[in-house]
Amino acid sequence: MRLVIWVSIAFTSIISCIVMLEGQQDQTPTPKPEETEVWSPVPRVVTPAPECGAPPSDAIVLFDGKNLDQWVSSGDKSPAQWVVANGVMTVNKSAGNIETKRKFRDYQLHIEWRVPANVTGTGQARGNSGVFLAATASKDGGYELQVLDSYNNQTYVNGMAGSIYKQAIPFVNATRKPGEWQTYDVVWQAPVFNQDGDLKTPAYVTVLFNGVLVQNHFAVRGETRYIGQPYYKAHGPEPIMLQAHGDPSPPISFRNIWARELD
Ligand code: MG
Repeated sequence: MRLVIWVSIAFTSIISCIVMLEGQQDQTPTPKPEETEVWSPVPRVVTPAPECGAPPSDAIVLFDGKNLDQWVSSGDKSPAQWVVANGVMTVNKSAGNIETKRKFRDYQLHIEWRVPANVTGTGQARGNSGVFLAATASKDGGYELQVLDSYNNQTYVNGMAGSIYKQAIPFVNATRKPGEWQTYDVVWQAPVFNQDGDLKTPAYVTVLFNGVLVQNHFAVRGETRYIGQPYYKAHGPEPIMLQAHGDPSPPISFRNIWARELD
């Protein structure tokens, strides 16, 4: 009989605890969808261009087909001497690299390029140029996004079109034929350096080549080196530079170049 009483008391206690716990749970407020809604700050309005690839309302237009007012010769900073005709600029190999007057830190870049249909040569000597995403020296100093005719043209894969030269192989080969226009859409996050010049955070780069992702937030290992391994040296905001490569093939052309500052 005593056992029955104890079991009865224990059972009653357990039931009481469950009822109490349920009561406590009932006191917890029910989450509301509004609790995870963010209303400010409100992103500013940017008006996109009517067609994809054209500059949106907040773009810095670097070349619209008319002139090279936004560019200088990298060597002596004199007016750029590349050839402008029919809405495009064409590399003047004897005039050397050109670079933007403006210096950039983080940015989004759109640039279009075309290897001529009558291109000659093989490997690196076939439509070679480049976009230096931050130019640290007039003669190919900085971080080169390679430009090359990679349509049926074999070369080392970390030097083909869409590569970060000698650092990052493109995921795929999205090159169009010579004679056709190609697009690069780039997101560049500049490297950050400590006061003492040591690297704090590397540069990161994302590249879409003709709309196809070929580099995804790649952590850049340092400035492009033709020979040897890349390494960093401290710098600040820098121009964007286009390469006048010395290969003997006919020169390539650029058009529709614009950037959006991200910092
Ligand atoms: Mg190059």
